[in-house]
Amino acid sequence: MYHVYICMCKMIRREDNTKGSSLSGLNTLQNKSFCSIGQMHEVYGNYSYYIRRLSGEHMIIERFITMYMKHKTSQYLTFENSSDIDAPEAPSESIHLYVHIPFCEQLCPYCSFHRFVYDEDAAREYFHALKKELVMYHDLGFRFSGVYIGGGTPTIHMEELIKVINLIQQLFSPDEISIETNPDRLDKDTLVRLAENGVGRVSVGIQSFNDDILASIGRYEKYGSGDLLQERLLNAKGYVNTLNTDMIYNFPTQTPFMMESDLEILKQIRPDQITFYPLMISDATRSRMEHLMGKVSYSKEQLFYKMIVEHLQGFYEPSSAWCFSRKDSPMIDEYIVTGNEYVGVGSGAFGLVNGAIYANTFSLKQYIGRIDQGMLPLSARKIFSKKEMVRYAFLMDLFGLSLDIKAFRQRFGSSLTSLLAMECLFFALAGGIRFNAGRIDLTLRGQYYWVIMMREFFIGVDNFRDLSREAAGIQL
Ligand code: SF4
Repeated sequence: MYHVYICMCKMIRREDNTKGSSLSGLNTLQNKSFCSIGQMHEVYGNYSYYIRRLSGEHMIIERFITMYMKHKTSQYLTFENSSDIDAPEAPSESIHLYVHIPFCEQLCPYCSFHRFVYDEDAAREYFHALKKELVMYHDLGFRFSGVYIGGGTPTIHMEELIKVINLIQQLFSPDEISIETNPDRLDKDTLVRLAENGVGRVSVGIQSFNDDILASIGRYEKYGSGDLLQERLLNAKGYVNTLNTDMIYNFPTQTPFMMESDLEILKQIRPDQITFYPLMISDATRSRMEHLMGKVSYSKEQLFYKMIVEHLQGFYEPSSAWCFSRKDSPMIDEYIVTGNEYVGVGSGAFGLVNGAIYANTFSLKQYIGRIDQGMLPLSARKIFSKKEMVRYAFLMDLFGLSLDIKAFRQRFGSSLTSLLAMECLFFALAGGIRFNAGRIDLTLRGQYYWVIMMREFFIGVDNFRDLSREAAGIQL
């Protein structure tokens, strides 16, 4: 949903953090297959042992990080709501652009994104307004080098989408365009059309190949079985530079065996890139989700994360704490949140410009109405203090695995260790970061700490989004 390239693929091979970290039990699991019940019991015994050890040794740190991040995020996302927010000033250099398409054919129960059930007339009107908003930013002097189109389902109306992409090309000539889609849109015609119009990266939401999980989150009926998803992914390879597969882990009913199976399937298919999101449930969707799938708990999350890292090792390298890119193919890397800036266009889109976060109105009617009056549809703003901006940059830079200490100092005028002494000390003592030749790198354990922090950050964003949608009279 946000963007900026990160091309720092250097984490897994050089890591040896399993030493003394209580995680080494997993090494014994790596080469086990899950064919017989006897083997399953043997392996599950190891997992149980691992979970018990995790509970004792690391859960306190993880709980602390979760609480800390919840608290900080609620402070970060205290917005000033107004329909009279001035347009941000265009930075002198090119930044990134996020374009939001808020329509889906059906709404998934776990989803907290800003989306509506698709209606062709409403969508046409929306795309029309979106093009006008793009022109407004162009006229304000903004230039964009990277574009990420997310949703919703951006490919829901291809004719209109292509017009938007063509306009973006004409106005901004970006270096890269990345787009999200769903498995039912992975047909050859769609992919060829996207590639022909300059889209280099397609990110498809798969979530899991397990039929029971797919059924419980309403995707089996919508996008087909795990077998069908595999077939669609295989057929989609090779049309764009980067085919990314979005997966979710830590569903309440998910077992280590299900996780292992998903990982083995991915290793067979070998998409260019795999992004593994931990399950993130906003406060408003929690009861609905728990009704469908059972209680959400984080007790197995670290185990699943370790399984991901260990299984993908040798085939993929991490590009961020949760995105893994194939070692053997040139590609567009993941667009992720970093301390860098971006503009968000479309209803409910966020932007970060000149040290302030902006949000567009979540009401479709207001969005279109404001644009028709020649105004940007901004409805909320949060101006970061210097300390907040420093923390945000620390979070986002290290989410990309490594932070340049000198560049950080140049950006904020003081050293990182003086600006964030407590954070640096805490994560160094907790084994999450290490100082290394002018950089701070995440350790393997630190990668998981950053997964926790990003999980809490995005849950905070989801909660803000839910409140804004509710205030706009949208049923959650
Ligand atoms: S998960 Fe994706 S397809 Fe499902 S409602 Fe959310 S945006 Fe739409």
